[in-house]
Amino acid sequence: MADFSKRPVVIGLEVHIQLSTDTKLFCSCPTDYIGKEPNSNTCPICLAVPGTLPLLNDRAVALGSRMGLGLHGEIQHYSNFHRKNYFYPDLAKAYQITQYGLTISVGGYLDIESEGGAKRVRVHHLHLEEDAGKLVHPTADGRLTGAAYSLVDYNRGGVPLSEIVSEPDMSSPAEARDYVVRLRQLARYLDVSDGEMESGSLRVDANISLSNPDGSYGTRVEIKNMNSLKSLERALMYEISRQNKVLDSGGRIIQETRLWDDAEEVTRSMRNKETASDYRYYPEMDLAPIVITDDQIDKFRRSMPELPWEKRERFADCFGLSKEETSILTEQKELARYYEDVVSNGAPPSRAANWVRMEVLRSLNEHGLRDIRDFKVRPELLAELVKRVEAREISSTAAKEVLDLLASGEPDLGEAIKRVGAPAGRVTGDDLSALADRILSENPDVADAIRSGQDKKGGKVKFLQGLVMKETKGQADPKEASEVLSRKLGF
Ligand SMILES: [Zn+2]
Repeated sequence: MADFSKRPVVIGLEVHIQLSTDTKLFCSCPTDYIGKEPNSNTCPICLAVPGTLPLLNDRAVALGSRMGLGLHGEIQHYSNFHRKNYFYPDLAKAYQITQYGLTISVGGYLDIESEGGAKRVRVHHLHLEEDAGKLVHPTADGRLTGAAYSLVDYNRGGVPLSEIVSEPDMSSPAEARDYVVRLRQLARYLDVSDGEMESGSLRVDANISLSNPDGSYGTRVEIKNMNSLKSLERALMYEISRQNKVLDSGGRIIQETRLWDDAEEVTRSMRNKETASDYRYYPEMDLAPIVITDDQIDKFRRSMPELPWEKRERFADCFGLSKEETSILTEQKELARYYEDVVSNGAPPSRAANWVRMEVLRSLNEHGLRDIRDFKVRPELLAELVKRVEAREISSTAAKEVLDLLASGEPDLGEAIKRVGAPAGRVTGDDLSALADRILSENPDVADAIRSGQDKKGGKVKFLQGLVMKETKGQADPKEASEVLSRKLGF
């Protein structure tokens, strides 16, 4: 277990988010490369055939600006691209086109809420860049064959990314996790990216150091290859204890890049960290600078949807929900919209919040659904069900079973209620009277005994009343049932 008390932990993150464009950053190859035959999703431009020229995708500029605005960054009127030179087989050109120095968005922040309370994490900048291809290592039955070669797949090469570089403002693995969760939520709210870590649409590199006794930053180590939120937290935990151990034994931390090994749960040294000069950055002369006018920035700003924190505030104000409720209901904007639709169809806000947050999420989970839009119980239907529970026409226990039936594909609420066995409505009046008649005729001995005055303690009436409640599955008012029975029994 990592010890946080010994030396303060300093974490900064570099998060790559794949932008949801239809085509790559500098050519018209599509971006939906997953599952395609290796190297089929390429063209002379993204394969870097000599003589070809890149052409900037405007949509990537718009999405990058949107994300920058969401992070409260300052969109730059003028930025440009650089070549970042390094040799690696997955990089067709032997350089990556990226922004360096003059980036599309500068500054900003993201507020997080972690175990230590609310915190503002400052953002250094956001820049655009192209993705690299992938090395594929030959496998048999999912295991590495140990082949002496690797294969290269350029399908992903040239897909647009925005890289968001934070300031070193996080002081625990939990804060780092929360920052990524909030960043991913923002990207999804803005339709900038699907933000899936599993498929690589969102990738995180971490810089971590332990402070010196005089409060200055220690030597920082970069960690890569964390493919889930869980591995991000584990890798940082591991690194904190590793660095503490090195320093405790009088050792020195080396500035380096380390890879997280998910199976062994350790970080391993990959290479000494490159410095900017290793990359020999120089301006990409094949691309014009990105010029964004005030009018365009205004247009981007006007097209911004309600942001997660604005929605949380509105839900608290308009619906009187607690912090926990608003946080769960606004986690995904689709879920938030579903909740609002349930309310606008007449369900009381706080009841609806309970139903969505408890029962709907449980049902989604049981049906293995990740997107509320695939949920069979549409908001109008849930609102109707909640209203019936509110009107005491159906018990909440029965209503949960009804929800399960609807979620399993029963389209009709009345039919679902019938199938659960609950009466279509509360049993009262003539229905209750008919039921009492039937119960009395099915139990003549009990009825006679009561009529002839043998039920001094009232236990037999209670017994009949219990039968009524059982037959109606609790959908009769016990007092009314008792009155109807008494009247029929002649007292
Ligand atoms: Zn291409």
